[in-house]
Amino acid sequence: MLARTGKALDLIVTCFDPNAQACARSEAPLTIGAFDDVDAVLAFAQACDVVTLEFENIPVRTLEALRSAGRAVHPGPDSLRVAQDRIAEKQLFEAIGIPRQANAAVDSLQRLASAVEQIGLPAVLKTRRDGYDGKGQFVLRALNQLEGAWRAVGARPCILESFVPFRREISVVVARNAGGDISAFAPTENVHVGGILHRSVAPASSAGSACAHAMRLAEHLGHVGVLTLELFETDDGALIGNEFAPRVHNSGHWTLDAGSTDQFSQHLRAVMGLPMVEPGLAGGAAMINLVGELPPALAIESSGASVHLYGKSPRAGRKLGHLTWSAASSIEAQQMADAWAERWLSGDRLPTDSIRQR
Ligand code: AMP
Repeated sequence: MLARTGKALDLIVTCFDPNAQACARSEAPLTIGAFDDVDAVLAFAQACDVVTLEFENIPVRTLEALRSAGRAVHPGPDSLRVAQDRIAEKQLFEAIGIPRQANAAVDSLQRLASAVEQIGLPAVLKTRRDGYDGKGQFVLRALNQLEGAWRAVGARPCILESFVPFRREISVVVARNAGGDISAFAPTENVHVGGILHRSVAPASSAGSACAHAMRLAEHLGHVGVLTLELFETDDGALIGNEFAPRVHNSGHWTLDAGSTDQFSQHLRAVMGLPMVEPGLAGGAAMINLVGELPPALAIESSGASVHLYGKSPRAGRKLGHLTWSAASSIEAQQMADAWAERWLSGDRLPTDSIRQR
């Protein structure tokens, strides 16, 4: 999507990916190489005025090598260093006043037992690195689950977090350029199913200080480009920072079809030093992810939504596309999206009743 948008902005785009089948190859020339092959990345970057990325697990060392060689790379190593480590992430939240759940570093089964004593149950055990879409996570509810949980996450360095009984999940996409200009897209309310984003609705009502938190985070990191902060909202309306992504985000895909600009264009303007556009959203938008298998073509064509299919082969848990409904209000857009999802998605792709009733 970045490559497609770049071409629409008259940029010349070229991509680097370890996977020869990377979907960007349908949009731009693709160089195949490993992200930790510094020489290959440096050779690739020779042809670029600016290097950007849409994957947060590129080795920090690679970005540092690009910077040392005088290449412009946005976002830079500082943003990735923090985003790659859930402990560093929580420490930064604490340092800059973003409320976060109680947590402890865990590097052995013994340490897990003492962390559970400290934090209490229920709690969530997550790998410190490389987790996404709920992978590498275990919700601990009883003391007899400790050993199983430690094995299930691969006996790797972890974080134990207190379980947050949230009423809503909210994300905010912000964009910042090197001159410090910063703006936020409308806060978005998200529902996950099985750890994978199912539905996003914007604007999220009364999302309080979510935008201010996200902007403070981007400023503190000196982040250039788009950054997405994910937060939990508890029953008393308090916001708790869960994690951030130093990149364009699935919960911002609705911006492609609603509002004055989209997250991909804004990201490219920020990293290229082009004038930014103030994001505005009149009315509301709702996005549903198509995960695992595609509904019948007729269901997609007659949805009344803007359709985005990624051309990927079906596989359990894989994001194959998304649909976006725009309407006069977020409630109306959400109703259209939910009605379509109820009709066409299988039961295990829909939220449980308790979430639907909220
Ligand atoms: P994450 O990879 O941290 O975004 O977690 C994936 C999903 O798991 C989140 O979007 C939440 O729905 C859920 N989750 C993660 N951490 C917690 C927590 N500490 N308390 C409650 N639910 C959580």
